[in-house]
Amino acid sequence: MTLAREHRLEAMGLLPIWRRREGGPVAADAVSTPALGQADDWAALEAEIRACTRCPLHATRHSAVPGSGDPQADWLIVGEAPGAEEDRQGEPFVGQAGHLLNAMLAAIGLKRGEKVYIANILKSRPPANRDPALDEIIACLPYLERQIALIQPRIILALGRFAAQTLLGTDTPVGRLRGQVHAYKGIPLVVTYHPAYLLRTPADKGRAWADLLLARRQLKDPQ
Ligand code: URA
Repeated sequence: MTLAREHRLEAMGLLPIWRRREGGPVAADAVSTPALGQADDWAALEAEIRACTRCPLHATRHSAVPGSGDPQADWLIVGEAPGAEEDRQGEPFVGQAGHLLNAMLAAIGLKRGEKVYIANILKSRPPANRDPALDEIIACLPYLERQIALIQPRIILALGRFAAQTLLGTDTPVGRLRGQVHAYKGIPLVVTYHPAYLLRTPADKGRAWADLLLARRQLKDPQ
């Protein structure tokens, strides 16, 4: 990797992901940061995302998934990327993991769409639900950044490795990021396990519950 590219990735907080994936499927030369359109309102931003061709995933998706919920939400929930069902419906977290997410939200008195907005790091489905690639994250991240700027949530809940590591610019594992309040551009951010992981590892649901309580406490009583 050239120094210039390393600096660019570092400036975007993406270097740890790059390092971890070195030798993997990401082509260094595919890394680029084309400018977004000028969408400065919600409808225009959603339309821009639905028509996006910034990365190769547009060719294999059925529909882009901008996110869903209250554009003036207190809570922003960030997942990884749409799966098959989300790609079909154009809505985030509508498959099995989504059902668990709904239950997690209900457990702390929250309901989808009411003071909650749900988005993903990637707006298009990676084929066969593979991990997001670095060039896809770089191409897509400005959309989430714009969404965060428009919503101005009071708390961000990052679900799983890709959401947590991308927003925090680190390669620290989720298990060590959870249990404390971080910040994304001054907004409190709590990391917890991805619901798909919890479906496979129900023994960690207790830890996820503790994370939800931490986030709710932070919102009620900002430190
Ligand atoms: N997993 C995610 O990370 N996001 C979705 O929208 C669905 C499943």
